[in-house]
Amino acid sequence: MSARIINGQEVAQQIRHEIRQEAERLKSAYGISPGLVTIIVGNNPASVSYVTGKQKTAKDLGFYSVQEDCPEDIQEEKLLALIDRYNRDPKIHGILVQLPLPGHINETKVLYAIDPDKDVDGFHPVNLGRLMIGEALFYPCTPYGIQQLLIRSNIEIDGSEVVVVGRSNIVGKPVAMMLCQKAKGANATVTICHTGTKDLSYHTRRADILIVAAGRPKAITADMVKEGAVVIDVGVNRIGVTQEGKARLCGDVDFDAVKEKASAITPVPGGVGPMTITMLMLNTLNAAKRSLKLS
Ligand code: NAP
Repeated sequence: MSARIINGQEVAQQIRHEIRQEAERLKSAYGISPGLVTIIVGNNPASVSYVTGKQKTAKDLGFYSVQEDCPEDIQEEKLLALIDRYNRDPKIHGILVQLPLPGHINETKVLYAIDPDKDVDGFHPVNLGRLMIGEALFYPCTPYGIQQLLIRSNIEIDGSEVVVVGRSNIVGKPVAMMLCQKAKGANATVTICHTGTKDLSYHTRRADILIVAAGRPKAITADMVKEGAVVIDVGVNRIGVTQEGKARLCGDVDFDAVKEKASAITPVPGGVGPMTITMLMLNTLNAAKRSLKLS
């Protein structure tokens, strides 16, 4: 039997519709619009494309949005001063610094400079620490998107065996931490695998829910997946160019083979990807509400 395909585009649209309505309500009831600033340093094509997508989505949702384009050789102090300005700007509720930053800038120092109350990417150590103790202000966007995809696709997380392949600070570790919380939409038994894991397939074959964020094309093959498992493929790997000149993408999972064994699976593209920007917008909306002491 072929797996149900979890359509991230559809779920993302549904959440965006809810965000738009809530943003309109904030505007009419309190006269404020959620405000997002995206800061980009240099003109790395992938970063420019991500930031353009974020700005476009923010505008579509009726947010107040600002883009700061900084030159590649900007001094670190100037970037920190810019962040400080937006930390103090009451019209801005979310600050996003597009990564990676050029080598002469200390990325950690820059991320730490963002006010944790405006850290809509959820990468500030205060927010990661709060996530750990179950009191998150913001969830990092990709893990948050994964959890919402599972919940809104009616997949039982509570009590399930979740195996996460990958332990990055932006995907693997936070998603594992979120799903093991004693909370609704969580309460799973979670295992984290990485390159030090001795027998990867021993673990992946036990998973009711397998989340793969390794950045290795088709690393997960059908023999590594339990019959009926739910498979969430976070990987985005560029494996060539389409006839139209666009990047040809594939995930970390051998989709065609694994979909014959899984009960549900996310495609690449069109699975986790559309959720990430959407959760950034939800975090910004929630930051705006928090500024009004509404949530
Ligand atoms: P990352 O920082 O490179 O981390 C990859 C993790 O996978 C590491 O922990 C690594 O282990 C582990 N790993 C790599 N190969 C492995 C293998 N063969 N067996 C077991 N573990 C293995 O990557 P990331 O930032 O988390 O991103 C992962 C993927 O998700 C990438 O393809 C990225 O493009 C994609 N992504 C997508 C979105 C989205 O919105 N769709 C967002 C973020 C990331 P070690 O720690 O031992 O090295």
